[in-house]
Amino acid sequence: MLASQLAQLEYANDKHRSGQASKVDISIEQEIECPRCHDVMTLHSEFDKLGYLCEECEFWLHLIH
Ligand SMILES: [Zn+2]
Repeated sequence: MLASQLAQLEYANDKHRSGQASKVDISIEQEIECPRCHDVMTLHSEFDKLGYLCEECEFWLHLIH
């Protein structure tokens, strides 16, 4: 799991460096700690929803409804 987290971080850094897709400079963390099980929640988007999903306990934390 650590390796995939690192890969995601590197991907995010690459995107930032190349200057694509940074229309809005919002400070949204890619990963946060799950309030339920303290595993890592990752940022997901689904249709018009944006939020964090914990794959361990399937808890959604929505940022936009
Ligand atoms: Zn969880």
